[in-house]
Amino acid sequence: MGWMRRTKIVATVGPAVAGPARLEKLIRAGADCLRFNLSHGTALEHVRAMAQARAAARRTGRTAALLADLCGPKIRTGGAPEKGVLLERGSRLEIVPGSIESTPESVGVTYPRLAQEVRRGQRILLADGRMELRVEGTRGRSILAKVVRGGALGGRKGVNLPDTKLSTPALTAKDRADLKAMAKAMPDYVALSFVRTAEDLRACRKAMDAAGLKAAGLIGKLEKPEALDNLESIVRACDGIMVARGDLGVEMPAERVPAAQRAMTEAAARSDRLCIVATEMLESMIESPRPTRAEVSDVACAVRDCADAVMLSAETSKGRYPFEAVKTMARVLEAAEAEQARSGRLCEPPCGASEGGIADALALAAKLVSQKVGETVLAAATESGGTALFLSKSRPVSPILGLSPTEAALRRMALYWGVLPVRIPRFQDHVRLLDEAGRCARRFLGAKPGGFVVILSGTPLGQSGSTNTLHLRRL
Ligand code: PEP
Repeated sequence: MGWMRRTKIVATVGPAVAGPARLEKLIRAGADCLRFNLSHGTALEHVRAMAQARAAARRTGRTAALLADLCGPKIRTGGAPEKGVLLERGSRLEIVPGSIESTPESVGVTYPRLAQEVRRGQRILLADGRMELRVEGTRGRSILAKVVRGGALGGRKGVNLPDTKLSTPALTAKDRADLKAMAKAMPDYVALSFVRTAEDLRACRKAMDAAGLKAAGLIGKLEKPEALDNLESIVRACDGIMVARGDLGVEMPAERVPAAQRAMTEAAARSDRLCIVATEMLESMIESPRPTRAEVSDVACAVRDCADAVMLSAETSKGRYPFEAVKTMARVLEAAEAEQARSGRLCEPPCGASEGGIADALALAAKLVSQKVGETVLAAATESGGTALFLSKSRPVSPILGLSPTEAALRRMALYWGVLPVRIPRFQDHVRLLDEAGRCARRFLGAKPGGFVVILSGTPLGQSGSTNTLHLRRL
C-alpha cells in the first residue's frame, strides 16, 4: 500500500481561489476542509461560495468539509489612506470609538467600550503587534495614548489588548446573525474566535442548535492567553480546537507560542478532540512558489505534536500560489509522517487515552490487533463518525476507512487524522457490511489479498452509539 497522508489540510477560501473552477482545483490539490472566514465579506457571499464548494467537491468525488469561521470580538482600526498613516515613536494620539479614518493624531477602533475597560499603562497593539501604544489616560469615550513602537498603519488592522480584560462575549451579535445565515449553507464545522472559557463555547453551541446547525462540529479558536488557564474545560466543551497562532502570538510573547501549541495539542489528544494548528505555516508562499526551510520544519513539528490538521490562511485565500501551497503542504506532511512511521513514533499518542467508553476501548483493541497481524486496514461503520474519531485518536499506523451512509458524518470525518471517508449503503446485516469493507479496502487503499481488515460496527447496525463489535477479516 502506498502512504496515504494522515494529517488533514484546511485551506482558507478567498479571492485567490474564488469561483467553481478554482475551488475544484483547491480540493483536487489536497484540501480536506475549506475555511470561510466571516471576518471578511458578507454572510450571503459566503453562503454562495459554500454552495459552489459543495458542488466542486461533488465533481472531484472527494469528501471535503466546510468550516464557517465566525469573526468573534475582533477589534479593528478604521480605514486609512492607501499608503497608510505614519505613527511616529514618542508621538501622542487619541483612540476614538468607531470605524473612522485614521490620521497621525487619531485612530478609530471598532470597540465602543474601550475607554471604560482599559487602564493607564496598558498596551494597545496594532497591525498584528507591529505597532505598540501605551495608554496614558482617557477623555470621555476616547483613549489618550503614546506611540511606543511606530510604523505605517493601514486600514482595518487588528487591535490586540493583551493586558486588558474585555467584557465582550466571544459570540457577538454579528456572529449570531451569521450563524442564522449559515443555516442556508449547512457548514460541517463552525469555529468560534477568541474563546476564553467553556461558557463561550456552550453559548455558541446553543446558538448553533437554535440556528439549525445541530450536525455541525464546534471548533474553539484559542488565541487568548486566558484560554490556556481554562484549557481542559474548553477542550471538553467543543469538538475540536484551533491553535490560532496569529492572534495568540500577539497576545502573548511569540516565544511562548510553541509551548502553548504543545499544551493545546496534548489537551486535545487527552480528550479525543480535534486539533488544528493554524497560521503562517507556509507564509512565504503568499509571494513565493517555494516555502522556507523553517516553514517546512514548523509543519513537521505540528505532525510530531500530533495535530489532526494544519491550516493555510492567506497562502490560499489571497496568495499568488494557492494550489502549490496545498500541494507543498501535502508533500511536507507525507514526508514528516513517513519519517515518524519509520521511527515507530507515529502510533504514539502524546498522552493516555481518554475514557470514551466501549467505542474507544474497541478502537484501542483494533489498533492492537492491527499491530499483531501485519498489513491491515482499519474500518469503522459509523452513523455519526464517532467510532472513526476514536480509531483516529488511537493514532494507528494502519489507515482508517470511515464508512457511513450519512453525508454529514462523511464530511465531518474529512477532518479526522488518517480517516478516508467512504459512502456505503445502509446495510441490514453484518455479512454484507464486511464484504463491502473488504471491497473498499482493496479499491480505495490498495489492500492486497492476504492482508487484513479490522471492522468496528454496532449491533443493531445503523444506530448511532451502538458500537460493540470487532471483526477481523482476511482479504
Ligand atoms: C489566528 O489568529 O491565528 C487565526 C487563525 O484567526 P484569524 O485568521 O481569524 O485571525
